[in-house]
Amino acid sequence: MSSPPVHGAPRTAGIRPAPRPWMDADLEMLRDTARRFFERECVPHEARWTAQHHADRDIWKKAGQAGLLCASIPEEYGGGSGSFLHEAVICEEQATAMVAAFSNNVHSGIVAHYILAYGSEAQKRRWLPRMATGELVAAIAMSEPGAGTDLQRIKTSAQRDGGDYLISGSKTFITNGHHANLVCVAVKTDTAAGAKGVSLVMVETDGLEGFRRGRLLEKLGQKTMDTTELFFDGIRVPADNLLGGEEGRGFTQLMQQLPQERLLIAVGAVATMHRAIAETTDHVRQREIFGKPLMALQNTRFKLAECQTQATVARSFVDDCIGRLLRGELDVPTAAMAKWWTTQTNCQIVDECLQLFGGYGYMTEYPISRLYADVRVGKIYGGANEVMKEIIARAMDR
Ligand SMILES: Cc1cc2nc3c(=O)[nH]c(=O)nc-3n(C[C@H](O)[C@H](O)[C@H](O)COP(=O)(O)OP(=O)(O)OC[C@H]3O[C@@H](n4cnc5c(N)ncnc54)[C@H](O)[C@@H]3O)c2cc1C
Repeated sequence: MSSPPVHGAPRTAGIRPAPRPWMDADLEMLRDTARRFFERECVPHEARWTAQHHADRDIWKKAGQAGLLCASIPEEYGGGSGSFLHEAVICEEQATAMVAAFSNNVHSGIVAHYILAYGSEAQKRRWLPRMATGELVAAIAMSEPGAGTDLQRIKTSAQRDGGDYLISGSKTFITNGHHANLVCVAVKTDTAAGAKGVSLVMVETDGLEGFRRGRLLEKLGQKTMDTTELFFDGIRVPADNLLGGEEGRGFTQLMQQLPQERLLIAVGAVATMHRAIAETTDHVRQREIFGKPLMALQNTRFKLAECQTQATVARSFVDDCIGRLLRGELDVPTAAMAKWWTTQTNCQIVDECLQLFGGYGYMTEYPISRLYADVRVGKIYGGANEVMKEIIARAMDR
């Protein structure tokens, strides 16, 4: 007999977790709200959302009502007036509950911050309050079939036509792509220039002529997440929708936001490590083998001890990075270290944990098998891990 699949998130691995240096009563309350939200509003729908490859649209409005969207955006723009810590807490709870169905990281952690950092006052007032309620769902569209890592090669172009841009091209792998109605699109405003020709233009897609969504992409993991292609066939967008007020700033804008984006990926990866270990500890303590619990075998004990140590070290490093980010001191190479090392360690830990489930670990009804498929993308998106190592090495070679 195996232990039954666990649907709620087991939280005790028998070791008292180190206190988080940045936690306070306000964040504890948010953590509690987020935990209840993901467990009540998302986990029960997992199977149906997996089958349809996307969450129900109303999850965004519910998340908005629960105060989980735009938590780090000032109140005057409809947000929660929190900091990166608020995004981190929500991200941890979402990862712990294994809810991949909607990317609040992209919506609140990335796109809202592009608008906050580079948007005009009018742009902030136009989009942020509606993002905070979930009326607008945001996506960021950089990758194209011919350009993922090498973003200078994007082909989607925006040409001025009076007071508008005419945008043509296609994007792929776009997270939140099925529901998104506000897309931050990386375009070439100067096709002859490399990085200096890239700009970011916000596109409101409701009723927009020439805009089309492609199919919901079939993925190895994160099957509840709507990941799609987007097509722009000469769409007309007001030139006012350019972010930053001047063409050609897109590449720099993307680079400036990357430390925060990569740190959020690391935060999610560490939370997932702890979920995998808790899940596995539960299993090996219940599963009998040779007349004893599987936990009694030295290999099991050592493997779990190694995983727990790695996850604890990872959390410490990420907490240190969070502190640096809050002080405005998180540099690009350190964020790259956090991103590559936590996502790789996450994959290793989940693999070791799955092994301890034996055949049950290979069955999709067991959370550990879903984790195995879900975490793999961490080494690819947000900048492939090889790119992270290049960034670190370049800084060492100066
Ligand atoms: C589930 C999912 C969600 C995504 N969501 C989004 C999204 O919301 N918006 C968006 O714009 N994009 C998104 N992406 C795209 C993602 O950012 C790209 O897949 C990623 O940047 C890699 O680009 P690519 O797939 O074109 O691979 P390529 O650029 O072709 O790279 C392939 C491989 O080459 C190697 N490589 C690349 N560069 C180097 C280097 N400098 N040195 C050594 N080796 C290198 C790496 O192993 C890399 O994995 C998503 C992707 C996935 C899978």
